[in-house]
Amino acid sequence: MNVILLGSPGAGKGTIGQMIAEEEQIPLFSTGDLLRKEVADNTDIGIKAKSFMDKGDYVPDNIVVDIIRNRIVGLKGFILDGFPRTVAQVNSLESARIKIDVVLNFVVSTSVIVDRLATRLTCRNCAAIYNIKNVPPKKPGICDRCGGELYQRDDQTPEAIRERVRVYERETKPLVDYYRKAGLLRDIDANPSDPDVIYKEALELIRLS
Ligand code: AMP
Repeated sequence: MNVILLGSPGAGKGTIGQMIAEEEQIPLFSTGDLLRKEVADNTDIGIKAKSFMDKGDYVPDNIVVDIIRNRIVGLKGFILDGFPRTVAQVNSLESARIKIDVVLNFVVSTSVIVDRLATRLTCRNCAAIYNIKNVPPKKPGICDRCGGELYQRDDQTPEAIRERVRVYERETKPLVDYYRKAGLLRDIDANPSDPDVIYKEALELIRLS
């Protein structure tokens, strides 16, 4: 089963993606996590990507396509979180004959997005996602899964959040129409604060596809 998770920043794609990946034993690929790793390792790609990411802008298509495409070509089953985000990235999947079975579209209101991102914490080591209010770690500041340090991402300032939502509306919303026309899109109400509610709906939609 090859799955794409679509939706604005803060819609919960990463959290739900991790839950589905564990349940279904399918690898999850987040281009945001892969790029943050390149930045942390100070690679050439990371140095190029950082300035775009800090502002909340998209990293150029060629860089993103290069880091993801070879990882998924030939795989039987994967979940993509945060890719594709532009029409050019959709085309890169098609030209590599990578077939998609279902696209889950996380629909969420702007006030929920802002609130969620302002209270989100991410593990520096394994990229697990927490939320101070809804999904707190057992020990403050420490990842339940790996014991890593939890931190707030640089692109979670109010200005960067607003810019990320604007860029999403402009660049990625057209993908919703594209995949709807292709008959692959399934809408999910991503407003509930309890991730289990969204997870159950997502799992059911994937199993029905
Ligand atoms: P995310 O963790 O998915 O919110 O991604 C964080 C940041 O990484 C985004 O704001 C972009 O700067 C960059 N990024 C992640 N995935 C992509 C992509 N598919 N295309 C372009 N930029 C991306």
